[in-house]
Amino acid sequence: MSKVKRILIANRGEIAIRIAKAVNELGHDSIGLWTDNEPKAYHLEFCKEWVHLPGSNITETFLNIDEIIKLAIAHKVDAIHPGYGFLAENSDFVRSVEKAGMVFIGPNANAIDLMGDKAKSKKLARKAGVPTVPGSEGIVETIEEARKVSSEMGFPVLLKAVAGGGGKGMRVCFNEQELDKNFEAVKREGAASFGNPDLLIEKYILDPRHIEVQILADKNDIYHVYERECSIQRRHQKVVEESPSPFIGEDQELRERICKTAVDLAKAVNYDSAGTVEFIMDGDKSFYFLEMNTRIQVEHPITEEVTGIDLLVNMIKSAFGEPLDISSQNEISQKGHAIECRICAEDPISLLPAPGVINGFSYQLNQGVRFDHCIYPGVEVTPDFDPMIGKLITFGINRDVAIRKMKEALEHLKLVGLKNNIELQKVIVNEESFKKGEYSTKYIDLIKPQESLKEKSFTDEEFLTLVMSELISKVSL
Ligand code: ADP
Ligand code: ADP
Ligand code: MG
Repeated sequence: MSKVKRILIANRGEIAIRIAKAVNELGHDSIGLWTDNEPKAYHLEFCKEWVHLPGSNITETFLNIDEIIKLAIAHKVDAIHPGYGFLAENSDFVRSVEKAGMVFIGPNANAIDLMGDKAKSKKLARKAGVPTVPGSEGIVETIEEARKVSSEMGFPVLLKAVAGGGGKGMRVCFNEQELDKNFEAVKREGAASFGNPDLLIEKYILDPRHIEVQILADKNDIYHVYERECSIQRRHQKVVEESPSPFIGEDQELRERICKTAVDLAKAVNYDSAGTVEFIMDGDKSFYFLEMNTRIQVEHPITEEVTGIDLLVNMIKSAFGEPLDISSQNEISQKGHAIECRICAEDPISLLPAPGVINGFSYQLNQGVRFDHCIYPGVEVTPDFDPMIGKLITFGINRDVAIRKMKEALEHLKLVGLKNNIELQKVIVNEESFKKGEYSTKYIDLIKPQESLKEKSFTDEEFLTLVMSELISKVSL
């Protein structure tokens, strides 16, 4: 075996746990960070060593490049894994890590630069022969230019902050009045949330599917690990994901074509890690490049389930220049079906984040069920971080079996003490168009699964009492 490496995990929550497990499996030393707000963060239980990252807000802590590098040097770290969010797609961080003589577990800084800006990456995709969503040539500076591009292309259009992410910095405009109203707002949002006011304009595709391709690469080879479909979204953020895509279905030619397109794009930027190329596909199965996420993605487990490839383990091996678990594209195939339901601390009716304290929880891991989470009794979910607290994943020999397992797993998943979307997920997996696999990114707007929860009309207190009485014997409080 290769030399034991000391790997710092510059993240928290469920992804820090997932990374720690992969580091431990490879026989390396996992080093977790704790901040003043979370001295007992759950991910630390999975790490071999704990290091204090002082501060109580994210600027002082998980976004603090200088401090993280300083701690890494002091603790003789060999490599840093950034997880997702925070510094994962920050090429300055990559360069700082490398300058300090350590390995960044992710792609090279140049690939991040090329793909980090939605206007630049679209230009590059077009050059590489990859179809992109029709829209402005690059960034749009003035409202006059925005009006011209939009009227030539036809409404509706989508204004997008070039540096946006997580569904933020995006607004749909159905006419010129809306365009006038939203233009400055998106610029402000881009500047405030992502430090960049630039925006681009795209044709707003009606009822598309979100289909993305997982890439796994090292310095020598670039493979695809097939596709995921993530069309069930709210506020342009994913809620349920599955693999293979039910929309592509049995169309192997289309599947191979979209996967090959993703590989072509990855090749164009000399990609050398795990990453994801996102597309939208319209009703006639034309697909268009949206963006590339140059990091491990939230929904990576469903790909792991259907291909048997551990993406985290291979991402780490790739960073150290070690051979991957596979050595040819032919070794990678999809088998069965996997579904992921994101479990979020959010109001199930308004679908807005609802922070709070989790007093108790329970779940059952039957055959084919995986739960990647960062929940423990007493944990506080704060507005500082993403409200996603867990990912319930099921795997079955086919889609019907994966859905059956998901229904059962959701029945056994109980969270006490804060609002969450478990009931909403139950409605979705029991709903007819979901069961048939016939849905688009408009699913939640059209089907309104949250409506049926209103009928239950429990007050929060009644709901909690109900769940508590059911749980009282099972859960440690
Ligand atoms: P995924 O497909 O992996 O869910 P998301 O775009 O939803 O991708 O982002 C995953 C996480 O990364 C979320 O916590 C999101 O808030 C964060 N994130 C994504 N892009 C950015 C960005 N440009 N700046 C800051 N955080 C981001
Ligand atoms: P982010 O960086 O926030 O993830 P994306 O460009 O990946 O932004 O878009 C997120 C989601 O927004 C997509 O999955 C899709 O549902 C929707 N979307 C983005 N661009 C378009 C478009 N041109 N037309 C219709 N929907 C779009
Ligand atoms: Mg995206």
